[in-house]
Order: sequence, then structure tokens, then C-alpha cells
Amino acid sequence: MVQPAWQDPVLLPPESAPVPEYGTGSLADLLPTLVAGQEVPGFEATIPELTPADRNCVFLIDGLGWEQIKAHPDEAPFLHSLLPTSRGGTGRPITSGFPSTTATSLASVGTGLAPGEHGLPGYTVRNPETGALMNQLRWKPWTAPKVWQPHPTVFTLADAAGVRTAQVSAPDFEQTPLTKVALSGGSFLGRLSGEERMDVAAQRLAAGDRSLVYTYYSEVDGQGHRYGVDSDAWRGQLMYVDGLARRLAEQLPPRSALYITADHGMIDIPFDEQSRIDFDEDWELGAGVALLGGEGRARHVYAVPGAEADVLTVWREVLGEQFWVASRDEAVAAGWFGPRIDERVYGRIGDVVAAAHDDVVITASANEPHESLMVGMHGSLTPVEQLVPLLEVRS
Ligand SMILES: [Zn+2]
Repeated sequence: MVQPAWQDPVLLPPESAPVPEYGTGSLADLLPTLVAGQEVPGFEATIPELTPADRNCVFLIDGLGWEQIKAHPDEAPFLHSLLPTSRGGTGRPITSGFPSTTATSLASVGTGLAPGEHGLPGYTVRNPETGALMNQLRWKPWTAPKVWQPHPTVFTLADAAGVRTAQVSAPDFEQTPLTKVALSGGSFLGRLSGEERMDVAAQRLAAGDRSLVYTYYSEVDGQGHRYGVDSDAWRGQLMYVDGLARRLAEQLPPRSALYITADHGMIDIPFDEQSRIDFDEDWELGAGVALLGGEGRARHVYAVPGAEADVLTVWREVLGEQFWVASRDEAVAAGWFGPRIDERVYGRIGDVVAAAHDDVVITASANEPHESLMVGMHGSLTPVEQLVPLLEVRS
């Protein structure tokens, strides 16, 4: 007998979530493919469509998803001209990795490894050594960087193989642990303005016969969080960054390729109770939970010992129509964090992992007052968050 819909909610099975294209078309595949083309030993080209140049530059625009570029031809005419629909454009989307968040993605870019191996699998995750939450973006509380992420970066290995390697970013980032574990190797050049970064990146690219330069701009993401991707402030940033990309492209030295990408996309979340579920006010979701990690659209839930199964049951019942709710083993088996999970990383993943399918978030008004008020959010497996550009300009 067919049950009425209200008795038979459609729960989203974890295995139905779109898994990032680890190993063929994710952020972790970008630098390995580029340096494989530069004959750095130990790397394999895993993005088949890509033909690296002798000099390769990666410009990472924080928060600028593939779908957002496609939706804004007027604000981003240069980036739009690189899309495959335009004459001559060869751009394509790649996937960011899970969760689609800055710390995780930057580590995937710099190490060439999926989150299950580099071990930054979220905005905040539990440190199994201390039992406390560790914020991967701000690196709080301080944790020995090389212990937390022991793998060498692609930059370090490329530099050792004679490729002129540089990162051009905000001066403040030079000494941060996240830079150390994800983006170090070769020279770091701190420049305050976007224009200076583009100019210096082009100069560094010309500095070697083989070179690898990374540069970064953050404020598309910043304005998106504050005002949303449907705001004039965000559109203004998009226009600005479009000009930066053009500026860099016009200065490329001979035998160069510029790759424009991003760490994740973004989605605006309405301000109402159905769209913003406040964990700190919800006794049902809080029962048996020791720690809530991750971020609104990609939660790591750490249960009180013994309560893992109950927490999974309740989270699935309450949220399972709007979120993919998985046990740690289910999320790992589904490949959300990549094909392999390093031993030290396993315990950082939540007992329950909840990834948003709809335009909803789990906020935490008391513990995360700032994050809970953001307009634009990201973190989950949906295309608007996962798909990031891989746009190419060659000299
Ligand atoms: Zn962000």
C-alpha cells in the first residue's frame, strides 16, 4: 500500500550526493597536472584536458563559483569571454572538494591532495588529540602545523625541482600556519592591493624558464558573506576582480598560461526560521551532541561517546529531507573526502556529517554569532558551491 506523503518523508540517502571529482577534475588535481607538465618528478597529469605551459600562473578568486560567473556576463565580461560558450573560450568547471570551504580548498590546491589526506576537512573540526574544536582557517587553538598537515606542498616539490615558484598574496598571510601547511614553497611576496599582486605575479612568472606562480584575492567572498551574491556590493567586487584578471592576462610573458579558479561558490540563505535552523536553540538536535563543528552548510557532529547512533537517527529524521545526513563511515565510503583517508584524519571527521541539499543552514547563534548572521554561505556538495571555474588564458 502506498503511504501518504506525510508518513513517508523523502530522506536523502548519503550515496545520492554528488561527489567531488577527485582524481580527474577537482582543485587537488590542478597543481599536480601543471607541474607534471613542467616535468617535476612524482606528479601525474590528472586533468586530461589541460596542457600546461612552461610558465603557469594560478589566480584563485575566493568565493567566485562557476555558476556565478555564468550568471553575470555584464559584471564579468573578461571572465565570461573565457567560458566555453564564447568564441575561443576553453574554460570548464572543476569541483572544489568537500567541504567547499576556504581552508579545505586552499589545502587541496597547495598539497595536491584531497581533504581525506591533507587533513583539513572543514572550517572547524575536532582535534582527536585534545578533544577540542580546531578552527582550520584561523588556526585556533594553535596546533603544530607540520604535525597537523605533514605532507609537502606542490610548491615545495616544484621549487626543489628547479621551477621558479612564488605566491603573491596579502602580506598578513605570509606567516600564518595555513599558508605554511598549504601554500608555502619558493618565495612569498606580500602585496596589499590587487593591482600590485597582478603586476608582481606577472613579473615572477617571467623570472624563470619554468615558473609556477599563485596569486589570490579574497573580497568577492567577503562581500558575499556580508551582503549576499545578489547585492550591489558583491557585483562591484565581481567587476573589480574581472579587471584584475584582465590586467594579469595582458601582462603574461611568453610561453605562459594563466589559470583562473576559485575555492568554492556561494549561495544566499533567506533570513527565516525554516531556512536557518539554530542548533543552539534546538534541544532535539543537541541531544547527545558533545561538539558541533564545520559550518552552516557542512556540519561535523561529534557525539557523546555511546550516543553516535542516536544522534544519527535524530539528525536524519529532523533534517534528512533537506540535508544529506551521513555517519562518518557512510561519508567516507561515499567518497565525500576523497578516495583515501589518512589515519590521523579519520577522527577529525564528525560522527555524523550533514551537508545541505536545499537553501538551508544550521546556525549556532550562541557559539557562532558572527557566522550565523552571514547572508551568503557555502560548504556543501551542491553545484553552486562545488563547481569552480578553471579558465585559461595563454600568451
Ligand atoms: Zn567564505
